[in-house]
Amino acid sequence: MLRGLVLTAVLLLSACGSPEQSPAAPSSTTPAKRLLVVTYTTGFRHDSIAIAEQTLDALARQAGTFTVQFCRTGADVQSMLSPASLRGFDAVAFVNTTGNLGLPDLPAFLGWIAEGHGFAGMHSAADTYHDEPAYLDMLGNEFLTHGAESSVDAMVENPTHPASAMLGPRFAIFDEIYRFARGNRGQVTMLMSLDRQPVDGLPGQGEPADLPLAWAKAHGAGRVFYTALGHRDDVWRNVSYRQHIGAGLQWVLGLR
Ligand SMILES: [Zn+2]
Repeated sequence: MLRGLVLTAVLLLSACGSPEQSPAAPSSTTPAKRLLVVTYTTGFRHDSIAIAEQTLDALARQAGTFTVQFCRTGADVQSMLSPASLRGFDAVAFVNTTGNLGLPDLPAFLGWIAEGHGFAGMHSAADTYHDEPAYLDMLGNEFLTHGAESSVDAMVENPTHPASAMLGPRFAIFDEIYRFARGNRGQVTMLMSLDRQPVDGLPGQGEPADLPLAWAKAHGAGRVFYTALGHRDDVWRNVSYRQHIGAGLQWVLGLR
């Protein structure tokens, strides 16, 4: 009996002393989800990373249901993406990352997602870890090339998924448009695609095509969201793009 009381007291104490409550959390019974945003690069570095970080910080404050921490350097990657550190997060976003990021244990990271955590990738997250097929499989594709920045009129394919429902049937945007190593239709929940090649100087420009642009998928029990858009600063300021990624992040966090 005494032991039971002591245990109850310990449990109550530890519940009260649980980690930092975000002031933005809607109530003490719904702790904010924790998102780790990785902007480290070992290849090309986008100028838009600065506004991308500001945008994600603003989206978290607006939503009030999740917090963001930033992982910016190789040293941050070693400390914040270790298996022990990942226990403190609900999802990770690779935001304009490039190259081999040198995660301390990439298979453990992919396994952590598959256990039921979230992953979001923006733009050059697909230009990351080209030498790791397991990462590319988790993401759902691999960046191949791009032409000049161009205007596209994307087809919004999924009117019910949280990350695309608000966009309407078409989404017009001016950005750098990625081509991917392969088609992934049927392997992912396609959110946005192009039905013709962008007019950007690459072979076949303007011709009918089927090009993936944004998708959602499962990785084991985890949720994965990717959008190829996000090269230019003004894309990160675009209200519809911000809604698209804000909802995508909430979806991988299990909030929607
Ligand atoms: Zn780019």
